[in-house]
Amino acid sequence: MKLSQLTAYLESLAPLAYQEDYDNAGLIVGHPDQEIHQALISLDCIEAVVDEAIATGCQLIISHHPIVFKGLKKFNGKTYVERVVEKAIRNNIALYAIHTNLDNIHTGVNARICQTLGLQNCHILSPKHGLLKKLVTYVPNAHADRVRNALFHAGAGNIGDYSECSFSSAGSGTFKGGDDTSPFVGEPGERHTESEIKIETVYPANLESKILMALVLAHPYEEVAYDLYNLTNQHQQIGSGMVGELEVPMDEERFLFLVKDRLQAQVIRHTELRHKSVKKVAVCGGAGGFLLKQAIAAGADFFVTADYKYHEFFDADGKIVIADVGHFESEQFTQQLLLEIIQKKFSNFAVRLTETNTNPVKYYI
Ligand SMILES: [Zn+2]
Repeated sequence: MKLSQLTAYLESLAPLAYQEDYDNAGLIVGHPDQEIHQALISLDCIEAVVDEAIATGCQLIISHHPIVFKGLKKFNGKTYVERVVEKAIRNNIALYAIHTNLDNIHTGVNARICQTLGLQNCHILSPKHGLLKKLVTYVPNAHADRVRNALFHAGAGNIGDYSECSFSSAGSGTFKGGDDTSPFVGEPGERHTESEIKIETVYPANLESKILMALVLAHPYEEVAYDLYNLTNQHQQIGSGMVGELEVPMDEERFLFLVKDRLQAQVIRHTELRHKSVKKVAVCGGAGGFLLKQAIAAGADFFVTADYKYHEFFDADGKIVIADVGHFESEQFTQQLLLEIIQKKFSNFAVRLTETNTNPVKYYI
């Protein structure tokens, strides 16, 4: 298939608009029209992974971490980043990264960690603001259903697990067309009053142009009246980290054993145990230290994450147990997640997991 078919699908699940400012998710090397027959999935895109793609006949590497974060000025093989990009281009291998946009969706990296640890009733630990907007439009009675359906189909009206959410109220609209108009009802130059339905619905801001296009196509009027509002509501399904509960509370040492076992961690660095049972657990794949306050506020007994520094461990302050399992360890199952997402949608497309262990951290035990 075309590379763009696959990336468009991945971006319908994890829109690029949901990535953090510092990130560089998306198509890094390659052309959207390029034909692809097989993809290789890896947490990191390092030289050994490009070699593996060449050896196994893959035309695309999908990695969680982008190989390029900042502008590259020279390509003379001095750094591993330059060498990876150069080798990929020379061998016609596309590089695609699905990073913080996959972290920030409620079915992404952190959902997979929750699932691996057997957590239930999971929700986003720190939902994002500013991602939702509201559309209000005015439609003649007979066309209200058609417009509502078009808006829902384009992605409006989703609140949590509910879809097709809207509010309608009846009223009358007035308009007077200019000399060059051909109004759907009424005559140019005369004020017309029409019974209309006011439809209100929420939508994710990144879908705005698609939703407005659907509105204009479905609405019978020559000029469609609509209002767009910014909302300060949180988007409950988009944001950082997750929190969930163990089915049965367990003691702290047993929980640490479970984490070590399930996340295949060779070592867990953790703060002092609190001698109480563990029920609620916050998680964040990769460097999650910025979420400690939210984890404590959520009432979590444990915060399973990575990349903690010495002084940051003090912040646990007896209120929670921080468990640093390692960056790679916390995110490694993202590879299986991506494999499943792609195989479910494109059952005939060949996709494989890397056999390279890309963890740059080694343990001397
Ligand atoms: Zn990471």
